[in-house]
Amino acid sequence: MEFGWTDEQLELREAARSFALDAVARFGRHNDSWINGYSKECSRELGARRWIGLTWPTEYGGGGRPPIDRLIIAEELISAGVPIAASWFADRQMGPTLIAYGTDEQRAAFLPGILSGETTWCIGMSEPDAGSDLAGLSTAARREGDEFVISGQKIWTSFAGVADYCYLICRTSTESKPHLGISEIIVPLNLPGIEIRPIRDMTTNEHFCEVFFDDVHVPAENLVGAEGNAFGQTMRQLEHERGGIDRLLSNRALYELALERADLGDPLVRQELASIETGYRLGRLLVTREVLGQAPKGFSAATKCFCTEHEVRVANFVSRVLGAEATRWGDVAAGLCYAPGYTIMGGTSNIMRNVLGERVLGLPR
Ligand SMILES: Cc1cc2nc3c(=O)[nH]c(=O)nc-3n(C[C@H](O)[C@H](O)[C@H](O)COP(=O)(O)OP(=O)(O)OC[C@H]3O[C@@H](n4cnc5c(N)ncnc54)[C@H](O)[C@@H]3O)c2cc1C
Repeated sequence: MEFGWTDEQLELREAARSFALDAVARFGRHNDSWINGYSKECSRELGARRWIGLTWPTEYGGGGRPPIDRLIIAEELISAGVPIAASWFADRQMGPTLIAYGTDEQRAAFLPGILSGETTWCIGMSEPDAGSDLAGLSTAARREGDEFVISGQKIWTSFAGVADYCYLICRTSTESKPHLGISEIIVPLNLPGIEIRPIRDMTTNEHFCEVFFDDVHVPAENLVGAEGNAFGQTMRQLEHERGGIDRLLSNRALYELALERADLGDPLVRQELASIETGYRLGRLLVTREVLGQAPKGFSAATKCFCTEHEVRVANFVSRVLGAEATRWGDVAAGLCYAPGYTIMGGTSNIMRNVLGERVLGLPR
């Protein structure tokens, strides 16, 4: 078996690396660049290179390329801190979801804007009383003729303040078991009745928001997939969200910085480095298995758990190496302050362990 990269893959990596260098020089180096680095211009450039929707079928405007190519590009962009957040969510999960469950009309209406990097999407899942327990969500969409009328509140909605569309997970029925009345609806964020309030986190970033829906009228044709039966769709979407390289490399740039400063003569530092380097390799293997479709169903929970806990270890290492400098307010401190979020966003580590135990290993609840 040949474990090495092909010439084409090496060329692609080189192209991505050189784009990343140039992009960081022009758009800045961003910590956690896939969730904190917002630059519409940068996303438009990715679109122009056809690096968004790279693996989607060509009939939907995608590149039809193998998933490993997307892994290579993403690895280079995220490690370097290129601001890709304006297009990342849609590229990672809304586009694939529309391809899998959407109508031809929805694909024609929404995929081109995603592919060109022109539209930004946010994910409206979490609510004040329903984060881990998604089936407990209460934001309601009631059918009125050829519209849904939506009322309720979402929270922690990253990029709601700048997004064009919210991919809303909401309740269209309360009559059966909680997870059975759930639907997914595309909500343009410029509709009357929507109020968006940014939340400032401790890094001073305001990417996530509270979103209030007060009788918001949305065309019924914006329903994606089956009405009241979207729980499985949402779980599939979360698989896209959990098993990718973004969950391993968020703070890789800070790690590289710490490596330059670390006292490599200190055996304890060397020991820690060996452990972190091993973690990066193991995480990459787990992600590669997800990307190649070789991981068992639901296993992305384990991949996400391992990779994000690794990112937290990396942040702790960077803090120790930089010492007092890490406490002085600035780019590095802001990056380190973000670390507790890794094991929360996209589902907490506790929940990932539950999923692994119950759904993958079949352990009793
Ligand atoms: C940086 C960041 C960005 C985010 N972006 C988005 C976004 O764009 N869109 C969106 O919808 N959401 C977003 N979120 C929200 C995120 O998905 C939720 O915070 C997460 O799912 C946890 O939900 P919660 O905050 O309600 O915590 P809770 O569900 O209230 O959990 C609180 C604690 O209880 C534990 N717990 C809960 N239930 C169980 C259980 N059954 N077994 C064991 N332990 C349990 C949890 O592990 C956690 O430690 C974001 C969060 C962060 C930090």
